[in-house]
Amino acid sequence: MRACVPNYHLTTPATLADALALLESEPGVWKPFAGGTDLMVLLEAGKLVHRNYINIWGLNELRGIEATDTYITLGALTTYTEVQANPILRREFPMLCQAASETGGLAIQNRGTLGGNIINASPAADSPPALLAYDAEIQLVSTRGSRWLPYQGFHTGYKQMHIGPDEMLARIRLPRNTADVKHYYRKVGTRKAQAISKVCFAAVGRTDREQIEDTRIVVGSVAPIVIRCVQTEDSLRQQKPDDETIRIACASLFREISPIDDIRSTAKYRSQVATNLLVDFLATLRA
Ligand SMILES: Cc1cc2nc3c(=O)[nH]c(=O)nc-3n(C[C@H](O)[C@H](O)[C@H](O)COP(=O)(O)OP(=O)(O)OC[C@H]3O[C@@H](n4cnc5c(N)ncnc54)[C@H](O)[C@@H]3O)c2cc1C
Repeated sequence: MRACVPNYHLTTPATLADALALLESEPGVWKPFAGGTDLMVLLEAGKLVHRNYINIWGLNELRGIEATDTYITLGALTTYTEVQANPILRREFPMLCQAASETGGLAIQNRGTLGGNIINASPAADSPPALLAYDAEIQLVSTRGSRWLPYQGFHTGYKQMHIGPDEMLARIRLPRNTADVKHYYRKVGTRKAQAISKVCFAAVGRTDREQIEDTRIVVGSVAPIVIRCVQTEDSLRQQKPDDETIRIACASLFREISPIDDIRSTAKYRSQVATNLLVDFLATLRA
């Protein structure tokens, strides 16, 4: 059943301050509408429960990619197309560019935003694994001010997150410390393009004299939220990626994920693929 469009309200503020004032004036009544690529699907299906939206697409305060020596900072409205076009991201954060290139088709990449992907909070979303593996931080803004927080821990459960009704996601920043790391990103779906992930795996690792110095491992579509597998990371730190280490790490990963059977895949398949990808990642560290 399609939604009845006149039942919805969409207002277009001129500035971010106006948008935040509206959010603050009636907490919980208004929600941001960015690219609309998630929201329009719900509207079309007659499942868009919320009725009042703030069109933030034109807010320049939420756009742009800026780099300093220590961080690259992306506005929440950064699209997948913009991610792929940025030379610093391509060079230093290739997993984010790969995630962007494998998200939807060209129309979605031109319109869908990183901010929308984060707040939509799908456990099968493709950019959050890369962002978590790169230790991203996010900035929330409201009329009360702004706060930066680690992206890790932001999502607390299925579609649950630490954001107030008066807050908006403004920016995402990545520390520029990837010079000597290996990057490993795989999206496994039914087909190469326009598929929702069955498993999405993103990891970075740094080795020194064949020993794993540090690693961050993130898996999507295997739990209610995209998860960073910290126990698996711990099992690998200061170890050589030999057969015994790999066996222990796979057992740890198996314990940390909690995949389910659904229309896209089975829990068994997801567990097997996630551990296969871990083995493949560790092989790249060994290479
Ligand atoms: C055909 C198709 C294919 C797709 N393929 C993929 C895919 O392969 N991988 C994938 O991960 N996703 C995919 N998506 C989902 C979608 O495109 C992404 O999640 C996209 O990044 C959402 O961004 P948006 O700007 O369109 O969000 P919107 O639809 O505008 O908003 C999504 C949610 O985020 C909130 N929101 C948006 N911006 C902000 C902000 N700045 N602050 C606070 N709240 C905010 C909105 O209120 C809403 O709840 C696909 C969608 C379609 C229709």
